[in-house]
Amino acid sequence: MSENNKRGGISVEAEHIFPIIKKWLYSDKEIFLREIVSNAVDAETKLKRLVSLGEVRDISVSDLSVRVELDTELNTITVTDNGIGMTADEVEKYICSIALSGALDFIKEYEGESDGKNGIIGHFGLGFYSAFMVADKVEVFTKSYKDAPAVYWVCDSNGSYEMSEGDREERGTEIVMHIGEEGKEYLDKNALRAILAKYCSFLPVPVYFEGGCECEHHHHEGECDCGHDHGDGHECECKTPINDTAPLWQKSPSECTDEEYKEFYRKVFNDWREPLLTVHINADYPLNFRGILFFPRRENEFENTEGQIKLYYNQMFVADNIREVIPEHLLMLRGVLDCPELPLNVSRSYLQNNTYVKKIAAHITKKVADKLVFMMENQRERYETIWQDIKTFAEYSCMCDPKFFDRAESAMLLPICGGGFKTLDEYLETGKEKHENTVYYAGDEQIQAQYISLYRKQGIEVALLDRFVDTQYIQMLENKRSGVKFVRVDADVAGALKTEGEKREVSDALSALFKEASGSDKLKLSLETLVDASVPAILNVSEDSRRMDDMMKMYATINGGEERPSFTEETLCLNLSSPLAARLADKAEYDETDKLIARQLYALAALSQRRPDAKALEAFLADSYDILSKITEK
Ligand code: ADP
Ligand code: MG
Repeated sequence: MSENNKRGGISVEAEHIFPIIKKWLYSDKEIFLREIVSNAVDAETKLKRLVSLGEVRDISVSDLSVRVELDTELNTITVTDNGIGMTADEVEKYICSIALSGALDFIKEYEGESDGKNGIIGHFGLGFYSAFMVADKVEVFTKSYKDAPAVYWVCDSNGSYEMSEGDREERGTEIVMHIGEEGKEYLDKNALRAILAKYCSFLPVPVYFEGGCECEHHHHEGECDCGHDHGDGHECECKTPINDTAPLWQKSPSECTDEEYKEFYRKVFNDWREPLLTVHINADYPLNFRGILFFPRRENEFENTEGQIKLYYNQMFVADNIREVIPEHLLMLRGVLDCPELPLNVSRSYLQNNTYVKKIAAHITKKVADKLVFMMENQRERYETIWQDIKTFAEYSCMCDPKFFDRAESAMLLPICGGGFKTLDEYLETGKEKHENTVYYAGDEQIQAQYISLYRKQGIEVALLDRFVDTQYIQMLENKRSGVKFVRVDADVAGALKTEGEKREVSDALSALFKEASGSDKLKLSLETLVDASVPAILNVSEDSRRMDDMMKMYATINGGEERPSFTEETLCLNLSSPLAARLADKAEYDETDKLIARQLYALAALSQRRPDAKALEAFLADSYDILSKITEK
């Protein structure tokens, strides 16, 4: 060692920091590669900036790249860049001294936290030192773009280093990590390739991986002599960057095609189904983040609805499933977000209490709502084809976030029985003559088919609200739009289907007949003259008490409690337009046959309103057979 060589200990605190790096950060070891590669990329970005600012001349930045090499004989992982490099002063300043101000306090603060440890490295510029999680010795060969001698620096895992003049001739830095026992799992090309794919797939400069090549015979200059057929369009792996330096999210949305979005989605999320819709966000100052979000397509309602958000920092992958930046009601989204404003290492607690993160979430909500409105206004046909798939989430979002509702309201659609979709306003406009401010809806297109067809015969459209979330959603709509009322088809039979006719009181005998037929003392009876003569009797249930019942049922399902008896008020409307019903209403006394007819009329009305329970079905079948045998007897 010559005279001006330097020796030293990293810092007084080195003996505190090194064990922490080795042991405490243990669970997340693989990020060492991200840290070292990100420094290499930084060094190249800095050089590019200097060139573009005209600070340095005569340097070509067209060949900037990072090389990651695995040597399983020497047990080394080497990361090389041709960025700005470092002078001896810079090595001393940036590598030899760890910025420790407050580090120990910080560590104490986060000690108890299960994921706090992920947050430490980046906060203190310990990025470089994360190499010691896997290495026993780290060598740095560097030469600055400035006219200064090259530097060689080597440090062991106790934190004692040596620094001397180096013999590197090319501009840039080579970091050689001598992998120790604790990092040996990374001395494997597949493991290393997987880590690179995870963190580095979209870095802004080409990253090459050598040693990952399937051929065994390449040498270290990056020249492949594996003899594999390169004529088939496949280059040897070590000559093809592992990354896409211009990921789609960095482009302006107006320059991206549908095909590109689909391709990107397929590649990043390994899902061959097309996403339902895509939201490309390009937020400028002060938010300054970019991203592409997708509504994934799902086979059915029950497929896992957990989304996936990948967070990037200047194209470097940071973490998966960062739920904090996505509003809770949009958690089924998949996508990428690139937020250079967040630190490379983020801890969950950092995100949870961060106002910037809250602003991102709010901006995302806004953009998703805007996309719905855009599609509604410009691509209505296509929008309608995806509506059933996004409806639940859209309604849920409206309920969770009033701002989402305010923005997306005009894009919220009601499916119409028999086909098609309408906005609430469109629906109300169509119906304003016949049923002003009333939305008639069905809760089940099959079970309530009879009602639906009666309404449609009257030219009344019936909306289909058959989802779990609809019940609460319409409640919310009614609160927001005062005057508007949602009424299920079986709740306003007389109102919607009645025509002018004589007013008639129900006799006590008739009332008693149907109370007995229904088996319920509470059954109410009314005599109506409906437009349609084909249906002799139809049930009307009160909207409010039924909603209350539905809610109780829902709680019972959720809490696993006992189902309580129904309190739904039920009225049987006997239709005087029907000769059969009229005859029955005209009688003063009723015999056994009348009772059978009444039972059957009630059962049929109930059947067209709800699914029968076992007992009701059994009784209905028995009566039906009875009627058939009576007919054959005659
Ligand atoms: P950070 O990247 O957060 O600054 P690091 O510990 O990762 O902290 O790196 C410390 C410093 O060392 C960097 O800021 C940079 O100045 C210098 N450095 C590290 N790696 C390189 C490299 N490959 N080329 C040039 N400078 C580097
Ligand atoms: Mg760094």
